[in-house]
This record gives sequence, structure tokens and C-alpha cells, in this order.
Amino acid sequence: MDFRFTDEEEAFRKEVRAFLEKELPSDWPGVDPDMYHEDAFDHIHEVSMETQKKFAAKGWLGLTWPKKYGGQEQPLWKQMILEQEVTYRGAPGVDAYQFIGGLGDLLLQFGTEEQKEKYLPMMVRGEIKCATGMSEPNAGSDLANLQLRADLQGDYFILNGQKTWQSAAHRAQLAPVYVRTDPEAYKHRGISIVLVDYRTPGITISPLVMMSGLEAFCEVFYDNVKIPKENLLGELNGGWKVMMAALSHERSYGIMLIMNIRRDLDNLVKYCRETVVNGEPLSNDTKVRNKLADMASQLEVARNMGFKMNYLALTGGDVTQTANQIKVLGGVMTQRVAALGMQIMGLYGQLGPVGGNWRQMDPNKDKWTKLGGRTKHLYLSTVCNTIAAGTTEVARNAIAGGLGLPREPKPAPKK
Ligand SMILES: Cc1cc2nc3c(=O)[nH]c(=O)nc-3n(C[C@H](O)[C@H](O)[C@H](O)COP(=O)(O)OP(=O)(O)OC[C@H]3O[C@@H](n4cnc5c(N)ncnc54)[C@H](O)[C@@H]3O)c2cc1C
Repeated sequence: MDFRFTDEEEAFRKEVRAFLEKELPSDWPGVDPDMYHEDAFDHIHEVSMETQKKFAAKGWLGLTWPKKYGGQEQPLWKQMILEQEVTYRGAPGVDAYQFIGGLGDLLLQFGTEEQKEKYLPMMVRGEIKCATGMSEPNAGSDLANLQLRADLQGDYFILNGQKTWQSAAHRAQLAPVYVRTDPEAYKHRGISIVLVDYRTPGITISPLVMMSGLEAFCEVFYDNVKIPKENLLGELNGGWKVMMAALSHERSYGIMLIMNIRRDLDNLVKYCRETVVNGEPLSNDTKVRNKLADMASQLEVARNMGFKMNYLALTGGDVTQTANQIKVLGGVMTQRVAALGMQIMGLYGQLGPVGGNWRQMDPNKDKWTKLGGRTKHLYLSTVCNTIAAGTTEVARNAIAGGLGLPREPKPAPKK
């Protein structure tokens, strides 16, 4: 097995790095290890749209997609290099690789020719943002329980009900929405997927506040919303299969969490070199050094799993098990790095920018706030990384199933 990249791939990596160096604001801190949050603020959303358009101009959206839909038909390794670099820098616009990339891949696999021709080129041009509409108040881990009704009446599905935790829905135009089309059928068999334009009348989107303070996901209410029947993605009542493919894609984003949090570890290393405590740099402290070294080793293992997943995808292997493993590791590792930052930085780690906004930090008021207040933010915001895209417990159930164990633990006998 050869772990090296080719000269061509390394040249591409350099090109991406140089682009990010030039295009990102010099003080760009990376927004969040969880790409969901990047659209929380208006100004970040603007930078995000601008950057997305610049990615598009380079041909870096839909890099692997067929040329006839505007893609570049480039190998998956290039896509991986691109995602790793933009995520390491926490570049705005990276949600494109998650949501747009995720929906684009679903369209390629399950969409009609008309749907591909309509949506893929606008994604490649960086014109839209996407979201994903699965969870409901009573359908999170138990997704098959979803209740949002879509009744076929003439040429339209009529949608009534509610979704929740919809990341960046307030910034998105398009989402695959998972709906119940046959309430009489066994619950896994009555689900379909419709492509919803969020500007359709009858849709109300209300942002929810996360514990980190960001408004980055939403409740979405549907009141007699008319969606043309040609927006059905995949077969009527055949949505479960599409959903499984979508979840595999979504869980593989754990590798992006790993790349982004690696940057925070690098920043922490720099902090330790530069911070003197009792006359000695923190980087001379054995306990601190050992913890940083351990964390770097764990992140390297996780990164290599990302390579394995890419290899499986390239060679037509089944990525499900590895995607679930990366999902678990990605979420857990972000929390470990955040907790390590807190341990090392002590009380300084708890301080955020006084005005709450890293782009308007005041050197006088914020003189005690280190690393742009990112450690505090990370500590609060990484909690959700073991919940989003399916919880760690549910992913572990799936991994256990892959080991030949029952997929669900047997409930303890009642005493
Ligand atoms: C930041 C963030 C972004 C999100 N973005 C989106 C989005 O864009 N679109 C979308 O549709 N959804 C999104 N979600 C929703 C997410 O997919 C759900 O929160 C998740 O699947 C868990 O569902 P739940 O919140 O209903 O928790 P529940 O399913 O009620 O789970 C509660 C607890 O019970 C445990 N549990 C449940 N079932 C089992 C089981 N069988 N075995 C073991 N333990 C179990 C869970 O692990 C969890 O600890 C997002 C969530 C977060 C936090």
C-alpha cells in the first residue's frame, strides 16, 4: 500500500493552499469545526457566498461530477485533497461540500435526467445553498417514524407537518425533504423524498439557538405546501434506500471534522510554545507535551481512516462501516481537543470576545481573550458533534451490526 500522493496531487494541494492564502481574510480564524454553523451570522454568510462563487470559478464545486452537468470529471482523490485543505482552514463555503455535495451525489445516483439538468449546474456555479430535511420532533434516531405528510393530489404533493434541527435552512434554497407518502404501509416503506424549494408559499422557517449561542439550525413548518410531483427523488415510497445512501454520505463528513480540529490542535501547540508560565514556556511541561502528542497521534489515526474510506469509495467497496467509524471518531475527537484546550489554557480558555464577535475584537477589552476565544466556543459547540448526522450511540449500533452483533442492544430484563 502506498500512502504517498502523486506529484500531480501534491501540486493540486499547493494550488488549493495558495488560493486559500490569497482569498481568505488574513485574520480568518476558521469558523467552527462543525460546518453547520458557518452561516449563523450575516457577514459570514456573505463571505461564504463569495467564497463559494470563487470555488465555482476554479471548477472546484462538483469537481468529480460529469462534464455534461458542469462538473470536471476529476478523480475522487482530488476532491479529498480539496476538502481536507478547505476544512483545515475552516474556509467559509465548505458547507458546499457537505450539503451541496451530498445532494448532488444523491441526484446523480437517484435523480431523473430533468432533475440533474436543472439542479446540478446551478450547484456547480455556486448559486445556491442546500439543507437537508430528515429529523422531526419524534423522528431523530428513529427516522423511520417521520410523520411529515405528502399527499399526491393531481400534479402536486401537498405537504403538512414539521421538521426540526434543519442546519442552515434559513440560508438555503433547496433541500431533499423526507416525507410520509403512505401512512398505511409498514413505516420504512411509506417514505419518499421530495426536492423542496424553501421559497414555496406555506413554508415557515424559524431559527433555533444552539448552546454555543449561534442560530444555525431551524424548525421548518409546512402548511399545505404544493410541491410539483416531478420533484420526487427516487421511487414513490422507496425513500428508505435513498435515505441510507444520504446518511452514509453525511456520516463520512467526520473526516472534515478531523481536518478542521487538527488546525485547532496546531493552534494550541503554538499557544503552548508562546505562553510562559512561572518563567517556563508551557511547551516545556511534560504533562502538556504528552497530552498534545497523544492527541496528534489519535488525529493521525482518524485521518488515515479517511484515506481508507476514499479508497473504498474509489474501488466500489462498501463505505458504510468505515463512514460510521469516522463519524464516531470525528465527533469524539473534536470534543477531546476542545477539552484539552480548556485544561491547558485554564481560565483563559473560558473567555470569548467581549462583544461576542471575533471579527470585532477590541485589543483593549479583549486583551485576556486568547486564540480569538475559540476554545470556549469549541467547548460549547463540539457537544453537538456526537449528535448531528445521527448520534454516536446509533452509529456504534451500526458498527456493532457490522461486526455480526445484533444491531440493537437487548433491553435489560425488568426486575
Ligand atoms: C448541530 C445539529 C445539526 C443537525 N442538523 C440536521 C439537519 O441538517 N437535518 C436533519 O434532518 N437533522 C439534523 N440534526 C438532527 C440530528 O440528526 C438528530 O438530533 C439526531 O439524529 C438525534 O435525534 P434526536 O435529537 O431526536 O435524539 P433521540 O433520537 O431522541 O435520542 C436521544 C438519546 O437516545 C439515544 N438513542 C436513541 N435511540 C437509540 C438506540 N437505538 N440505541 C442507543 N441509543 C439510542 C441517542 O443516542 C441519544 O443519546 C442535527 C442535529 C444537531 C445537533
